[in-house]
Amino acid sequence: MTMVNMEDQIKMLVELQELDTEIYDKKRLLDAIPERIKELDNSLEEKSINLKNLEEESKKLQVKRKEKETDLASKEETIKKYKTQLFQIKTNKEYTALEKEISSIKADNSVLEDEIIVLLDGVDEIKEKVSKEKEILEHEKGKVQDEKKKMEDEKKINEAEFNDLNNKRKEFVQKLDKNILSKYERILHNRDGLAMVPVIGGSCGGCNMNLPPQVINEAKLKKECIFCGNCARILYIEV
Ligand SMILES: [Zn+2]
Repeated sequence: MTMVNMEDQIKMLVELQELDTEIYDKKRLLDAIPERIKELDNSLEEKSINLKNLEEESKKLQVKRKEKETDLASKEETIKKYKTQLFQIKTNKEYTALEKEISSIKADNSVLEDEIIVLLDGVDEIKEKVSKEKEILEHEKGKVQDEKKKMEDEKKINEAEFNDLNNKRKEFVQKLDKNILSKYERILHNRDGLAMVPVIGGSCGGCNMNLPPQVINEAKLKKECIFCGNCARILYIEV
């Protein structure tokens, strides 16, 4: 087995980490796209449910108004009928009773008329709301469609870049020692895409823990892979 030049390996690992950081960033970006699309769909869904509810409310009010109008019309008919009956009545007592009945129905009708006016106002108000909401929804639909198109384009571009980066990586790792590479990749996988970290001011650049001087010295020597005692990432000295 040929001797591995550790200094070269570490230098290449640092380069590989740069590449992997780009790959992980791309992957995160790509993974987030379906969620972003779902959010857009959800906001549209919410708005159309609101609109449906408003339309339902509007229908209910109109049914109520119709009922009251029918009621009013039939009561008006009754009054007409009673008024003709007035002429055929023989006794004073009967006459007074029927007149009383008529004025009682008239009072009912006056209440009904007020209620119908309130309902008409309510229907107008809700119709206006419905048409406004419809307009907003249409506008939103257009916006969401544009956003989705943008995201699809973004996805395609990023997928292509992701593939390019991976191809570049495949070629690059050929140069690395298999054992060192497998150690690196294990850490990369376990530490969410960050395996190589510089020593910064005596601390680990990955987890910020203070490093013993002995560990820093060993990292400076570049004779073997030196790991952070806390996060187990591979330490290197920046030049
Ligand atoms: Zn660390």
